[in-house]
Amino acid sequence: MKILVINAGSSSLKYQLIDMVSKNVLAKGNCERIGIDGRFKHQTGDGRKFEREMPLPDHRVAFKLVIETLTSGEGAVIESIKEISAVGHRVVHGGDKFTQSVLVTDEVLREFQGVINFAPLHNPPALSGIEACRDTLGKEIPNVMVFDTAFHQTMPPHAYTFGVPYKYYEKYRVRRYGAHGTSHRYVSLRCAELLGKKPEDTKIVTCHLGNGSSISAVDAGKCVDTSMGFTPLGGIIMGTRSGDLDPSVVTFIMEKEGISPRDMEQLLNKESGFIGISGISSDDRDLEEATAKGIERSKIAQDAQRYQIKKYVGAYAAAMGGIDALVFTGGIGENSCLLRAAVCENMEYLGIEMDAAKNDTTIRGKEGDISVPGTKTRVYVIPTNEEYMIAVDTKTIVEG
Ligand code: AMP
Repeated sequence: MKILVINAGSSSLKYQLIDMVSKNVLAKGNCERIGIDGRFKHQTGDGRKFEREMPLPDHRVAFKLVIETLTSGEGAVIESIKEISAVGHRVVHGGDKFTQSVLVTDEVLREFQGVINFAPLHNPPALSGIEACRDTLGKEIPNVMVFDTAFHQTMPPHAYTFGVPYKYYEKYRVRRYGAHGTSHRYVSLRCAELLGKKPEDTKIVTCHLGNGSSISAVDAGKCVDTSMGFTPLGGIIMGTRSGDLDPSVVTFIMEKEGISPRDMEQLLNKESGFIGISGISSDDRDLEEATAKGIERSKIAQDAQRYQIKKYVGAYAAAMGGIDALVFTGGIGENSCLLRAAVCENMEYLGIEMDAAKNDTTIRGKEGDISVPGTKTRVYVIPTNEEYMIAVDTKTIVEG
């Protein structure tokens, strides 16, 4: 069985064709700059690779190109579209309507319209991707929607309710939704496997740390809390996003600087976090270099992020009444041994003791237990694989 996984952004369409028997990625690529000028990158599992510039006016044209490339010419990996059993689509926000992945039907798409505005930049392109797919492949190849928010829908009301008048939850569904759910689900399931336990018997804190970052408390296989909030702006300091603030900071700056709500949203999403504090870069590698050179604001940005992660680990251990494992994933989590060491420092009280040598050698693409053997709490680096998780859900749903 082969599943095509689609991740459509506002000007991009990423794809992977996965063989569910061998678990191999047969081909992957990205249509970039859709609606601008158009760039296309394609790579096959057996090492063929090319990149082209070509007009990509919309997602439909991009999707057609993907299908043509997969089935013919130098990048082909299948003979016909009939070999694609189903298509799984990454969808950023399902509100509280979608608590798990669903088979796409006309009715589901109508329901999706009710939550589309929860992620105005991301949900409409996902819909364009699904429509392009249905047009090109026909309705007989099933489509499945896999929501980034779905894994967090098991949070209890005391974890998702904000301290604002309840009418805003009732009127506008203002609450914590979280994000990166597919990643948190994948690494927590993998972590349970590594622990040799059923997910039901585990308490895990998962840290997805990349350009966007979030932390989740996963108790008995279910998310009970997560750091991102109503949107992916909440939680810890990120590359360009502020993370949580005293809300009056927002109104104070708006008033002082005469900033509109839209511009303030831009400031908090694009000009804050690492870039805002350091004034140097949103990229952790750049800050690592700058901090090593003694640049103070770079060090403050990194220390602040690491300190916040540490606080979440403690808070979530308290929320779950213990912790069996701590997981690091995402670009920073998988690669930055300095961050992992800083977060795990002085955590012996939680049974966390990091093995410095293992920590130093475990980097991207490599899974590893980086804790001292015999200590109570395991610390793992687990490279995330959201595409594979989407493919697994898609397979499960189409097989009924
Ligand atoms: P992602 O959004 O998951 O692709 O992660 C991007 C982030 O990972 C950026 O901040 C990168 O600087 C960071 N990253 C990637 N490689 C490394 C590395 N070797 N050391 C530290 N951070 C890294």
